[in-house]
Amino acid sequence: MEASVASYDSPSSLSAGLRCRCPRCGEGKLFSGFLTIAKSCDRCGLDFSFADPADGPAFFVMSGVGILVTAAWAWWAVAAQPPIWAQFAVVVPALVAGCLGTLRPVKSWLVAEQYAHKAEEARWSSTGRHGEGGFTIDRRKASDR
Ligand SMILES: [Zn+2]
Repeated sequence: MEASVASYDSPSSLSAGLRCRCPRCGEGKLFSGFLTIAKSCDRCGLDFSFADPADGPAFFVMSGVGILVTAAWAWWAVAAQPPIWAQFAVVVPALVAGCLGTLRPVKSWLVAEQYAHKAEEARWSSTGRHGEGGFTIDRRKASDR
């Protein structure tokens, strides 16, 4: 399949993210491991090297799950006053399961947003004239360089 000339009916970032699929074709798998992003899409060949949400998914998952579980725990502890062993038996697994269960779709969603907004690390190109402005737009015609 020729990837560069074909046009794709790309899914929304949220749809591709929640299903952990390729942001361009919506079919290929994004992950090759639990959180390891594949080298490229196994359906359309999209190179996933642009995809690097870094610690973004962990931050959002920890914050979201932490706030929700802690709020529910606080309400439960005040309303029902359960024994401390029961609180640990419920809250710790809820935190672990909540984080592990949402990490993949959140990471996949952030990668899909990176793809949709063409967000990647900045690449600087030098005009080769260090000392004369260095990193600037070279407005001369190519034939004059
Ligand atoms: Zn694809």
